[in-house]
Amino acid sequence: MTSYHSNAQEIREVIQTVRAFAAKELAPYADELDREERLAPGIFRRLGELGILGLTCPEEFGGAKLGAVSVAAVMEELSYACPGTCLSYLAHSLLFVHNLAQNGSPEQLVRYLPNCISGEMVGGMAMTEPGAGSDAIGLTTKAVKKGDHYVLNGSKMFITNGPIADVFLVYARTGEDRMDLSTFIVERGFAGFSVGKKLSKMGMRASPTGELVFKDCIVPAENLVGDEGSSVKHMMKNLDIERVGLGAMSLGIARACLDHSLKYAQERQQFSENIINFQAVSEKIANMYIGYRAARAFIYEAAQVIEEGRRANQEAAAAKVYASEMATKVALDAIQVLGGYGYIREFPVERLMRDAKLIEIGGGTSEILRSIIVKEFVRKSGK
Ligand SMILES: Cc1cc2nc3c(=O)[nH]c(=O)nc-3n(C[C@H](O)[C@H](O)[C@H](O)COP(=O)(O)OP(=O)(O)OC[C@H]3O[C@@H](n4cnc5c(N)ncnc54)[C@H](O)[C@@H]3O)c2cc1C
Repeated sequence: MTSYHSNAQEIREVIQTVRAFAAKELAPYADELDREERLAPGIFRRLGELGILGLTCPEEFGGAKLGAVSVAAVMEELSYACPGTCLSYLAHSLLFVHNLAQNGSPEQLVRYLPNCISGEMVGGMAMTEPGAGSDAIGLTTKAVKKGDHYVLNGSKMFITNGPIADVFLVYARTGEDRMDLSTFIVERGFAGFSVGKKLSKMGMRASPTGELVFKDCIVPAENLVGDEGSSVKHMMKNLDIERVGLGAMSLGIARACLDHSLKYAQERQQFSENIINFQAVSEKIANMYIGYRAARAFIYEAAQVIEEGRRANQEAAAAKVYASEMATKVALDAIQVLGGYGYIREFPVERLMRDAKLIEIGGGTSEILRSIIVKEFVRKSGK
């Protein structure tokens, strides 16, 4: 299947390169990576060589200076081949690299971006805590300034790349007001930092997820990102592109399910007929295509809004809800089309269903995103 994207030649070239790489280097190993709960060796360096770890970053740091439409297109292609690898790619390239490029000081960019964009260093972002998920602003990890450094105490939960990353953007409380949150760059080797247990998951198993622990963790004052207490703004701004990226991952999953279903239904015979000739089966496949195409239009429209520098929280939230719920439904239908073979692990659709479900939760649950959509209407109405 071809995929939708802007006509820009540059974006088309990126898609072709990523699609060819993912078909050769990721898709054949996706089941093994899922079973063994690991990423492919050296994957970040290889993605760095491909030139996609700093898609939105300035060229002087090795970035490609592209926008949210390209981000969505790359996410769709990687996720089509291996959603788990794509999730780790998203945490690195969007949650760490893009976020730092947007909000870091010139010195911080020089210090971290080149190594992260080449894939020598792996990044992650730590917002969620054991007691603060949907209510991210309610986080309790504390950072207290002492001379030339901050001391961090607390813990973070469900952090993508936690077990493997070299560096994290960590959100912590720096004042008494609920909105007094600040962002810190924390390296793995900092005193008082440790990684808790790696979490075993239902899906996205190629992507390592873990807990982070800060026990009197010493962070140099120059690792504060932006001004003290200014994080809520960048946190919220980055969520838009994260949500579009996650929604684009759902597109990749749905497209993979559609392709597997089509192939299987055209080959599988029952009652001396290819099962695609049975209306109940073909209707499911048609609906997969309809859902995918509708979500694709929605995701790329939201990406376009971000690319134009406009506020996109309502569009990004709505597009992610639609795409993620569509992908879970499509994956469940794909299992049904494959019958018993859909339910066993030799065929990829059961893995894709497990992977699809995460996107209804990560980066804001569907329930929270629906409430954001309505709050935005209320805000616009001025009531
Ligand atoms: C595999 C994976 C990777 C992740 N990676 C990262 C990462 O890299 N960095 C990071 O910071 N976080 C990460 N997360 C965390 C993720 O963003 C949170 O899991 C998510 O925001 C939900 O928080 P929670 O799990 O604490 O659920 P809760 O907030 O406890 O929600 C539980 C249920 O209650 C509902 N609920 C809560 N509040 C409301 C409300 N006000 N109205 C209606 N319903 C509500 C939720 O929708 C949900 O159904 C990851 C999570 C997973 C599973």
